[in-house]
Amino acid sequence: MEGAGQMSGIHVYRCASCDHRFESEDFASRCPKCRSKVLLHESGPARTLKKGCRGRSCGGCGGCGGH
Ligand SMILES: [Zn+2]
Repeated sequence: MEGAGQMSGIHVYRCASCDHRFESEDFASRCPKCRSKVLLHESGPARTLKKGCRGRSCGGCGGCGGH
């Protein structure tokens, strides 16, 4: 099945303000602990278009609206 072998789309962020590290299934915009908007994206799918993205759902691709 297409996309079945894909890794999980979990993003790992670290807050630049309080150093709190957290995981998010979606793109986080702020720290859940201190609500800072300054987050460092440590791992997870890039927020840019995936290679080969054609605007269809390819799992966590920013070019597909996150889905
Ligand atoms: Zn924080």
